[in-house]
Amino acid sequence: MWRWPTLHETQRTVLLDVLVHGSRSRAELARRTGLSRTTLSRLSRDLVDLGLVEEGEATPLVGRGRPSEVLHLRKESAQFAGIKLTGDALYAVVTDLHATVLTTVEHPLPSRAVDDVVGLIAEVVDGFRDDHPKLASLGICLAGDVHTEGGRAVVVGSHFLGWDEVPLQSLAEAATGLPTSISNDVQALTVAHHWFGAGVGRRSLVVIGLGAGIGSGIVVNDELVRGAKGHPGKIGHLPVGETGATCDRGHVGCVSAFVTGPAISRNSGIDGFSEVVEAARAGDARARTALRSAARALGTAVAVLQNLVDPERIVVTGEGLDAVAYDRSELESAIAARLDPASVAPDLDLHPFRFADYAWGAAISAIRHIV
Ligand SMILES: [Zn+2]
Repeated sequence: MWRWPTLHETQRTVLLDVLVHGSRSRAELARRTGLSRTTLSRLSRDLVDLGLVEEGEATPLVGRGRPSEVLHLRKESAQFAGIKLTGDALYAVVTDLHATVLTTVEHPLPSRAVDDVVGLIAEVVDGFRDDHPKLASLGICLAGDVHTEGGRAVVVGSHFLGWDEVPLQSLAEAATGLPTSISNDVQALTVAHHWFGAGVGRRSLVVIGLGAGIGSGIVVNDELVRGAKGHPGKIGHLPVGETGATCDRGHVGCVSAFVTGPAISRNSGIDGFSEVVEAARAGDARARTALRSAARALGTAVAVLQNLVDPERIVVTGEGLDAVAYDRSELESAIAARLDPASVAPDLDLHPFRFADYAWGAAISAIRHIV
């Protein structure tokens, strides 16, 4: 079976720079990494020999410097599998080294029992091997928290699967033979947007994921905030000062009483994000009120994150996006109302979402895990 090559720290540094920032000339890489041009020539030769990059045409330098060869990523040199688990289905993608999705599949879960789900993961990964013989690693994400015990990722409190204390990294590695990373789904999506999506080039970023629940991922100084115990970015039960609705934990007027899928359907009397939006467009007063409350509650969460983190951009995405974007002016005015007088209005990106985005995020976590 093909394996991802073991790289030295400096080889990784150079590969990562080309991976995240695109093709680079050796001169530019030398400047960015602080390595000498001689060292860089040797390192790029190593990476070419390993098949991970190729050297392209030399670009003439401005002034009198020697022309400098450009390193390009060989995105076809390896593939990565990403899986998103929900309470009843598995969504999986394969990407190349540049995070482009090559294949997408989805399967219903046979049951929520850990053995059944791990069995399905192994089957899906095996099914990928024919068309993608250079699978280097696997990423799995799910709604729930992940903490590390003895260097291994353990899933805790996955409400939708009913899992607690499941050593998923060890189980998935044993079942697939691939190095595996396990993440909270919104954290995986955050990492993906930071490297390859709506946050490219930003050193700080907040991503809010809306769906059956709500969560946020935070990047500061180019690093994902992981928290001391693996629970950062909890905005779901933030009080928003609205009354009249209760979340599933019994809080009156928290974010989850208005913004999540179950809350919107409870408040509107209609199931499904797109169905509520349609009803609101058709003039249904209860649907409109529910969406207006959702937009106001989200606006409060956005303002609080802006006040706390002051990121370069806040991305809102997820299957509930259209519901909270329905009343954009309500969202904007709620943000303005809660913004600290000393804060700057956020660069807010309401980012289009496809359900495979979470699996794509898991694949990018798999790339990060190994590169
Ligand atoms: Zn609550």
